[in-house]
Amino acid sequence: MKLETIAIHAGNKIETGSRAVIQPITLSTTYERGADGDYPGGFIYTRADNPNRKSLENVLAQLERGADACAFSSGNAAGNAVFQSLKAGSHIIAPEDMYHGLKNQLKEIYAQTLEIDFVDCTDTEKIRSAIKSNTRLIWIETPSNPLLKITDIAEVVTLAKKNNIIVACDNTFASPVFQNPLVLGCDIVMHSSTKYIGGHSDVCGGALICKELNPFWEKVRNVQTLGGAIPSPFDCFLTVRGIKTLPYRMRGHEENAMKIALFLEDHPAVEKVYYPGLISHPQHKIAKNQMNGFGGIISFLVNGTDQAALKVVNKVKLFTQATSLGGVESLIEHRASIEGPETKTPQNLIRASIGLENSDDLIADLNQALQ
Ligand SMILES: *Cc1c(COP(=O)(O)O)cnc(C)c1O
Repeated sequence: MKLETIAIHAGNKIETGSRAVIQPITLSTTYERGADGDYPGGFIYTRADNPNRKSLENVLAQLERGADACAFSSGNAAGNAVFQSLKAGSHIIAPEDMYHGLKNQLKEIYAQTLEIDFVDCTDTEKIRSAIKSNTRLIWIETPSNPLLKITDIAEVVTLAKKNNIIVACDNTFASPVFQNPLVLGCDIVMHSSTKYIGGHSDVCGGALICKELNPFWEKVRNVQTLGGAIPSPFDCFLTVRGIKTLPYRMRGHEENAMKIALFLEDHPAVEKVYYPGLISHPQHKIAKNQMNGFGGIISFLVNGTDQAALKVVNKVKLFTQATSLGGVESLIEHRASIEGPETKTPQNLIRASIGLENSDDLIADLNQALQ
């Protein structure tokens, strides 16, 4: 089936007894056994599985064209499940420009058990030269947060396959609508469903989707059920509800973002715009090749220092100054402040999550803030 159809139908119909059209929220933590001690309803205990999580995992697996999905209570919990499934002493290659929360997870929680190298993943040669005999995982994030760098997924997959290395891709910025890394050969896709997948800034969640069932995936599933970082039935319900409009929302985000990126690129107060849809983006061709759309996140440098950037984010009226992204409302933030003093993100960088308001209103707001 095509994406729009999957988004609307694949998250329903786990329990058909009541003939409810929409998968109801099942809050029960436990499920009754049959006379012979089995579980005729297919569920045992809510941490292991429940109808709402199953409906969410069904739709996620289908959207990414994968074999199975695991839903988590956050994007970070999803990333954690991959890292925790590696043997102690394994070497990981991860991007230099990586979502800071996951980068800090690697640096602070895994520094003693895993070997980690952060490399510029826009250059496959740099990944090649970072490979060691104990490299088990290449983690990529494309487009990356916050610099919108693009990694050539197929090229990394070819390199990894030759060396028997797992490739996992953080696909949060692209969403399953604009990029399907499993189809390009990755083993695992990760999402922060807090962002586009949920889409309404009202539910925190994460997901992993696998290309095929294998022993590594069994470990991931074990980290989910035994580690217990699971989303609640209500979280799953909200996420499935958000997914129904995901394909249409993504088109709207992209249409608005493209107009705003062009507006910013022409603005005299703007030094540089990072958006993979612009011809000026250094990996525009790769993005065009591996994506069906460029997404709704734009980063840009304003002329001047952090003070100039802070002035702009304080002056906008329609954009809300807040972290996060992927909701229907536009958000804007001075990225270096949230990433902390050690960040390499330029001090004059602003990241904007372009929402679904009318683009004329968004442009007018940015224009007055940039004066
Ligand atoms: C937000 C985000 C995460 C982390 O997800 P949470 O749901 O906040 O835990 C991971 N990767 C990217 C690219 C993100 O934007």
